[in-house]
Amino acid sequence: MKIEATYDIIIAGGGLSGLSLAWYLAKGGYDKQVLVVDSTFAPVNNKTWCFWTNQPPPFLHILYRKWEKARVSVSDYETFQNLNEFNYYCIRSSDFKECVLKELRQHKNFHLAEENILDLSSNKDKAILLTKNGKHYLADYIFQSIKPPQQLDPSEVEYSLVQHFLGYEIKTNNRIFDPETFTLMDFENNFSPGIGFIYVLPFSPQHALIEFTVFSKSVLAKTEYKQRIALYLQQNFKLDEKDYEVKRQEYGEIPMEIRPHIPFYNDGTNIVNLGTVGGQTKPTTGYTFLRIQDYTQQLSQSLITDNRLVPPPQSPKRFRYYDLWLLHILSTSSEESLLLFKSLFKNNKLDEILRFLGEDSSFFQDLKIMSSVPSRPFLKAIWKNFF
Ligand SMILES: Cc1cc2nc3c(=O)[nH]c(=O)nc-3n(C[C@H](O)[C@H](O)[C@H](O)COP(=O)(O)OP(=O)(O)OC[C@H]3O[C@@H](n4cnc5c(N)ncnc54)[C@H](O)[C@@H]3O)c2cc1C
Repeated sequence: MKIEATYDIIIAGGGLSGLSLAWYLAKGGYDKQVLVVDSTFAPVNNKTWCFWTNQPPPFLHILYRKWEKARVSVSDYETFQNLNEFNYYCIRSSDFKECVLKELRQHKNFHLAEENILDLSSNKDKAILLTKNGKHYLADYIFQSIKPPQQLDPSEVEYSLVQHFLGYEIKTNNRIFDPETFTLMDFENNFSPGIGFIYVLPFSPQHALIEFTVFSKSVLAKTEYKQRIALYLQQNFKLDEKDYEVKRQEYGEIPMEIRPHIPFYNDGTNIVNLGTVGGQTKPTTGYTFLRIQDYTQQLSQSLITDNRLVPPPQSPKRFRYYDLWLLHILSTSSEESLLLFKSLFKNNKLDEILRFLGEDSSFFQDLKIMSSVPSRPFLKAIWKNFF
């Protein structure tokens, strides 16, 4: 084995989690040698990361937009609400990548390698990264966000749904969007299997990202998302295809599943899983951005102060049960899921729902939310998962 170079840390995958870790290490003054490997460092705008928080947001200086008002529409119910407790933010992946890479290039101990990674392995004292070009890089730790852990047994994954979506970023000459109000969910009434809804991020009166999103077991043909977006623009804004220009498309598949927490990639303890493959996605919403920020911040602190690993924070047990029950309902009945969302949005303020989904609610607030939705599907889900 010809060894190309040895580092203290290798970050395998320079996407959201890998670059977040690199950012917090660099900003925190980590002075050992770090290599970040990705197939490309081109700052591509292919992900629009949104999140809500009542704290000062991370990466404040590159936030693309912020909203304080949201709209939801489900069946015959529609609501427009001010968010009093939270703001909803978005960051473009291109801005994020550009900003982090600019910072890393100012630190002599941070190195970038544009390489395709073929394999990750461990021996007694080192973690080893092998590239497609046959180069071996060694480190004390590899933090990887490129492959699911080897020990992940598919039979241990419960309710494996996917949140899949395709978005059009459009520009039009007509001033039709309200840039103050984003649409969190505008449900399609008779969608099956699963649930389908439109998500709208208005950037200006003439510029927006419109996504058709589905929670279901398998993805659709790309034309199906596109047809639904076109129909939505036609029915809601009277826009025909000739009336707007599609500047960019954004496609994603995010796992919605309950799976065992597996901290390491293989049987060793020096290749650590990060990001989506590290199980940091909230199963019922797909939101991952803030969880990645929390974990990579904690991890970088621990590496800087005493070169130790810390495990990612786990959701409190009760929220894991709520996720389990909700995934059960989503995977068994589109009709019941739609009814559930309708009662949820009708009987609770958006702030309360976001607090609950962000796992910041108290047990009593959870009970209020639970008692506001039909109990039958939940009782069935609880029965199924306990007995
Ligand atoms: C389109 C889209 C929109 C999303 N929007 C949101 C959102 O609004 N809010 C939210 O909270 N979450 C969102 N998510 C979910 C989640 O936050 C993102 O998927 C996030 O990018 C996950 O970060 P990650 O580091 O795990 O993976 P990634 O960001 O995908 O990083 C993995 C990196 O590894 C590199 N890589 C992979 N394989 C190899 C290889 N063999 N060799 C070299 N490099 C390799 C890739 O190039 C990539 O840069 C979205 C996901 C998608 C797909």
